[in-house]
Amino acid sequence: MQQAQYQLIIVGGGPAGLTAGLYAARGRLKVLLVEKGATGGQVLVTDWVDNYPGFAEGVSGFDLMDKMTAHADRFGLEKKFAVITALDLAGDVKSVTLESGEILTAKTIILCTGAKPRRLDIPGEYEYSGRGVSYCATCDGPFYRNQEIAVVGGGNTAIQEALHLTKFAAKVTVIHRRSELRATKILQEKAFCNQKIDFLWNTRILEIRGTKTAGVEELLLQHYNGDQSTLKVTGIFVLIGIAPNNDLLPLDQLHTDSTGFIVTDEEMATSIPGVYAAGDIRSKRSRQIVNAAGEGAVAELSVEHYLGNQAPDQPLNCSE
Ligand code: NAP
Repeated sequence: MQQAQYQLIIVGGGPAGLTAGLYAARGRLKVLLVEKGATGGQVLVTDWVDNYPGFAEGVSGFDLMDKMTAHADRFGLEKKFAVITALDLAGDVKSVTLESGEILTAKTIILCTGAKPRRLDIPGEYEYSGRGVSYCATCDGPFYRNQEIAVVGGGNTAIQEALHLTKFAAKVTVIHRRSELRATKILQEKAFCNQKIDFLWNTRILEIRGTKTAGVEELLLQHYNGDQSTLKVTGIFVLIGIAPNNDLLPLDQLHTDSTGFIVTDEEMATSIPGVYAAGDIRSKRSRQIVNAAGEGAVAELSVEHYLGNQAPDQPLNCSE
């Protein structure tokens, strides 16, 4: 049988991947984490995290992920920053092909590829992307100082980021397609009390309009009774949920749900032996940083079980 270079390759370096990496490094597995950008995932662009246990005063998304990365580094997690172009997950030895042409092999894989923002798919969205249409309030909020902007969505992300945007904008109009928010109550209370936030209920955006020079100028809206109106804004933040980062995954082999998220059992095992998934890429209802981290830990423990408790295979380091 072909010899694998690694016992475990973790694909993706968000909270799930970093936690799996921490556990694997502490478990003395021969492990590699492959990440295409910086470690931290979507949390890196989250302004503030108030519900991660142990941070009583809250913590910025960037600082939290910096600490998670440092924690895994402390136990010597090997990381490679590279773009993966292909994954072959069938068979006892899995392979990961990088853009450079290098092929890495492992006995097990944990998929932590996460998710990306969903699009509205309406006229003007693509055209004005980066010129008034944004999917990241933390990244682009400061560009809208003293301006009137809109947020579309009614979930935790939309409301949390609408609150963040009030630090810069003169007015933030939250446009939601229903008459009640999906966001958690504490966020709703904060938003309803914020003088800079207005709500447009039962309203859909039909078109984002603007000019080449100015970027976004107005939104064409449709209300519940069919009436249409326009809203003058210079920016629109589209925060309507997430889509799975599954482009690379062999969807003919992996069991996924109807929206493309990976189905696992409670031990994070996918439909392919030796392949596990953790974090936002999993099919599930609750997507919290603390879930992702917990699932990363469970996935790694499942890997150790799968490998037949072969670890530790490295000498003891008595200095730790
Ligand atoms: P989400 O919870 O799925 O909410 C998406 C929102 O966008 C919903 O209000 C939905 O409306 C609306 N929407 C969806 N498609 C739309 C469309 N085509 N046009 C207009 N509106 C549309 O997504 P999320 O807020 O990005 O959150 C993703 C996950 O991360 C969730 O599990 C969330 O709890 C978690 N999260 C947690 C925190 C936190 O705990 N602080 C922060 C951020 C995210 P309907 O309500 O009508 O479906």
